[in-house]
Amino acid sequence: MTTTHVLHRHLHHTPPRAVAGHGMTLRDASGKEYLDASGGAAVSCLGHGHPDVLAAMHAQIDRLAYAHTSFFTTEVAEELADQLVRTAPEGMSHAYFVSGGSEAVEAALKMARQYFVEIGQPQRRHFIARRQSYHGNTLGALAVGGNAWRRAQFAPLLIDVEHVAPCYPYREQRAEETPEQYGQRLAQELEDTILRLGADSVMAFVAETVGGATAGVLVPVPGYLQAVRRVCDTHGVLLILDEVMCGMGRTGTLHACEQDGVVPDLMTVAKGLGGGYQPIGAVLAQGRIVQAMTAGSGFFQHGHTYLGHAVACAAALAVQRVIERDGLLARVREAGQRLQGLLHGAFDAHPHVGDIRGRGLFWGVELVQDRASKAPFDPSRRLHARVKAEAFARGLLVYPMGGTVDGRYGDHVLLAPPFIASDADLATIAQRLQAALDAALH
Ligand code: PLP
Repeated sequence: MTTTHVLHRHLHHTPPRAVAGHGMTLRDASGKEYLDASGGAAVSCLGHGHPDVLAAMHAQIDRLAYAHTSFFTTEVAEELADQLVRTAPEGMSHAYFVSGGSEAVEAALKMARQYFVEIGQPQRRHFIARRQSYHGNTLGALAVGGNAWRRAQFAPLLIDVEHVAPCYPYREQRAEETPEQYGQRLAQELEDTILRLGADSVMAFVAETVGGATAGVLVPVPGYLQAVRRVCDTHGVLLILDEVMCGMGRTGTLHACEQDGVVPDLMTVAKGLGGGYQPIGAVLAQGRIVQAMTAGSGFFQHGHTYLGHAVACAAALAVQRVIERDGLLARVREAGQRLQGLLHGAFDAHPHVGDIRGRGLFWGVELVQDRASKAPFDPSRRLHARVKAEAFARGLLVYPMGGTVDGRYGDHVLLAPPFIASDADLATIAQRLQAALDAALH
């Protein structure tokens, strides 16, 4: 192994060098090919090397790569904002472009705070979020995030955030409850928390519409998010939906919240927005929030050097146009059903698969030591890491994680294949995952 001066994620392990990507496949320097069943971390929605996206980026680079947003806007940023507002949930009037998911969450948190200052409610200072959530790794995003392990060592640096229960029916819905009753109970917990903190002191409730990375795809039960919306409205609390992972088509509609009949006040998107071709994220904001800042101080007191980067906007615009032109949302729904069937076929009888859950092309498989009691594996076994390694060895990229249950216990595998996955690709994903899981367990 040659020495590396890159500070890699794991300091005892330098990963293989990726040298090429095409469609569903990535290739490393040894020539080995990998079927990308997770798009990295649910990013590469169009797969790799899409010719239309590359052409749009080349054209933008030749015209203009970068102009600082304190001096200029660009045609491409304007067009991308037009596209996003045209297709956004009702009432969204503007897009604020940043360079990724964590930056989008930070911007949304600050926009919520500024909104309340602008409308004369500066006493509102609390955020409420959910346990087992993931909103990013910058300090504000980490603070709203509810993953105990990720937060632990940085706890002294984090703003105080209240955490309520996630919507996790497999483990937390009671036997005597219907899904609807469970959702109402969760909304009641949110309301009780708002009242305990003081209703006029809470700024916003922050939640992933479909929970992603740290909980292994938690799909909201029917009526839950609508009840949450009502609670927020009753107390003048903003609803911030984080669709960084589950949004931009991943669940079969452009925004996951469309399927829950809920419109947020602020929504964060990233990952599938630019499909990995460039780093880009955005906050979509309701007109009245932007209006409050316009009528008040006249600016949003925030900013980064690379806001609205022209090449990033060009990549995202091209990705979104391809999704629209090629009818890929319908394909996500169809392929999602196929993948669901394949996963059930492969794992329904598996003694160590406790739950298979998902929407569109966004699936989680939760692993358990014992199906009857739902007891997780001993975390020291690092089953999730073994599954990842066994899948990798078999030329399959999946995105497993540990700590599913409470930040320490539990393992799941997350699947988020590109929207261009063929039926044959999906079958290969299920087969290789089955083999990888069996190898990891032995
Ligand atoms: N929010 C959610 C829901 C995410 O899944 C992620 C990343 O996985 C983030 C925010 C952070 O995004 P990024 O890693 O681009 O900063």
